[in-house]
Amino acid sequence: MGTPALKKSRTQVARTGCEAYQASNANRLAPAQWSTQACWCRCPAVARSAITLKSQPLRARDGARFRCSGSGLCCTDIHGLGVLTQSEVRDLRRRDKLAVIYSDDLEGHCLRPVDHHCLFLEGQRCQIHAKQGHEAKPAGCRRFPYGLVRTPQGGRVTTEHRCPCRTLGDRPILSLEDAAKSLRDRAGRLESDFDVPARIALDRTRRVSFDRYAELEGRLIARLNAGEPAEQVLGARPLPALTNGTWTTVAAEHIDTRDGTAGGDAFAWFGDALLNLCAGHTPPERPRPWHASFERALGETTPPTPDEVYNDWIADEIWMFRWIGWGPFDVARAELATRLAVARLLQGWVEKRGVSPGQAAAEAVMMCELVAAGSDWPAAAEDIARDPSPADPLD
Ligand code: SF4
Repeated sequence: MGTPALKKSRTQVARTGCEAYQASNANRLAPAQWSTQACWCRCPAVARSAITLKSQPLRARDGARFRCSGSGLCCTDIHGLGVLTQSEVRDLRRRDKLAVIYSDDLEGHCLRPVDHHCLFLEGQRCQIHAKQGHEAKPAGCRRFPYGLVRTPQGGRVTTEHRCPCRTLGDRPILSLEDAAKSLRDRAGRLESDFDVPARIALDRTRRVSFDRYAELEGRLIARLNAGEPAEQVLGARPLPALTNGTWTTVAAEHIDTRDGTAGGDAFAWFGDALLNLCAGHTPPERPRPWHASFERALGETTPPTPDEVYNDWIADEIWMFRWIGWGPFDVARAELATRLAVARLLQGWVEKRGVSPGQAAAEAVMMCELVAAGSDWPAAAEDIARDPSPADPLD
C-alpha cells in the first residue's frame, strides 16, 4: 500500500494481525507488559467483536460534530484500505477482478490503490456507493471516521480527526442514528472496536472505577467545550522525559519515514516540528499534504478558529481511549500536550503558505493524528517517564 506508516508497522502488525485494539484490551490486565500497538487502518475489521448489552446505550461525546462532505481523503492509501473479510473480498472481486490485493503489512486483503487512491474512487465519488448505496461498501469504508468503543456505561461512538470532513465544513451535531447505520454490519449488528476496562488508571499508583473516571473526564470535556485553552485543561508538560529514548530520536524516526507519498510528507512535517521544539531545528521546505481535500471539505463555509479545532480534537482523543494501551491517564495528558504543541507549530508553518488559521490547524491535526496511528509514536508515548504531569486537573 506504500505508506510509511504501513511499512514501519509491519513488525507490529505481524504480531497483532491488525488487532491492535483487541491486544491493548487484553493487555490491560498487565499494564507493565503493554507493548507498542498501532492501528492505522480505517477500520480494524478483524479486531471487532459482536456487540453485547454492555454496548448499549450508544453515546456520543458532548459537542462532537460530523458530516461527510466527500473530501475523498479516506479513500486514499494514507489509510490501510482494509483489512477485508473473505466475503468482502469475494464481493469486490465480482465487481472487478483486480479490486483486491494481499497486503504483507496488514497480513490480509485490502482494496487495491491506483495512483494512491482506491480503484473504485472516480471523481471523488465511490462508485460502489453511487451505484448500490452506503451498505454495499466494505465495513471499513462504511465505518470511517466513526468507531465504537465498549465501556461499562455503554457504547461510545468515536470519530477520527484524520478526516478533513471531521474538522472543517458544515458539521452538524453528530447523529447517533447516522453513526449506528455506519457502524452496523450487513446483518444489522453493531460491532465494537475494543473494550474499556471497569477500572481506569489515572497514574501509576491510582486506579478508579469507570464511573468515577467518567465523572472526572466529563469535567475536562466540559471545560474544553467551554473554550478553555486545551493546554490548561490537560495540565501537563509537553515533551516530558522519556524513560529509554529521546525526543530528538523520535523526531528523526518520523522524518526518516518520508518516501515521496503524502503520508510520508506528513510524517516528516511532524518530525520537523518535534525536532524544532526539542532542538531548534529549521525545517526544509516540504510539499503540503492533502490540501485539496481540506479545501473540498471547507467549501464555502467559514473555518473554525484554531482553538475550536484543537479543543474538539483533544476532547475526542480523550473520549476515544486511543491512549488506553499506552499507559495511565497522566501519560495520556502529557502525550496529548506534546502533540498539541507540535500541532500549534505546524499550524504556523502551514499558515505561512497563505492558508487560513482554522484550516491550517485542521491540517496540523490531521498530521498529528496520523502519526498517532503509526508505529513510532505509540512507542514514544509508552516511553513517557514516571510523573509526566505534576499538575493534576483531576484533583
Ligand atoms: S470502496 Fe468506495 S468508500 Fe471504500 S475506499 Fe474504495 S472508493 Fe472509498
